[in-house]
Amino acid sequence: MKREKGLLIVLSGPSGVGKGTVCGALREKDTQIKYSVSATTRKPREGEVDGINYFFKSHEEFERMIAEGDMLEHAKYVSNYYGTPRKYVEEELEKGHDVILEIEVQGALQVKESFPEGVFIFLMPPSLNELRSRIEGRGTETDDLIDSRMTVAKEEIDMMDKYDYVVENDKVELAVSRIQSIVTAENCRKDRL
Ligand code: 5GP
Repeated sequence: MKREKGLLIVLSGPSGVGKGTVCGALREKDTQIKYSVSATTRKPREGEVDGINYFFKSHEEFERMIAEGDMLEHAKYVSNYYGTPRKYVEEELEKGHDVILEIEVQGALQVKESFPEGVFIFLMPPSLNELRSRIEGRGTETDDLIDSRMTVAKEEIDMMDKYDYVVENDKVELAVSRIQSIVTAENCRKDRL
């Protein structure tokens, strides 16, 4: 029994909650799911590779991509653009592959408009204090930027009820197995066959 189109899975939640870590661990366990690489105008962090972590773009390049309709969704987040290139996602879904997007909340809500059949998962930190210490522990942001990310995080948590599922990221392995269970259940839904 093979569905014609893949499942679009949107994994969202505040910066620092561990979306990247959870996605990385999910990727090791499930080699079938495809991962979309986002574009951003943010400067690469140490160790980040163009085309693997992000497609790093100038503001002009990014705005051209928006104008040409190349973005499935995009958002401005703490003064930088982030967005999902449309082509890869649409092609993989057409091939019947499940695709996961790891994006912030404004973008997730845009995807919901164009893909209401998508599966929307909100990754929740155990607490705001824990979220702050995870962002601080990453050591990649200045204090001002950490404050901005925390302000946005509170607004993002308020949007939680727009999602289909809420998964707490208390422990990475637990979060991953909860997400795998959601994907399995969604793939078995009779209205998707
Ligand atoms: P960071 O700068 O920490 O890599 O990402 C900042 C925020 O942007 C995170 O919440 C991350 O999930 C989100 N983000 C990454 N890629 C995209 C994207 O393609 N679209 C949107 N809307 N958000 C993204």
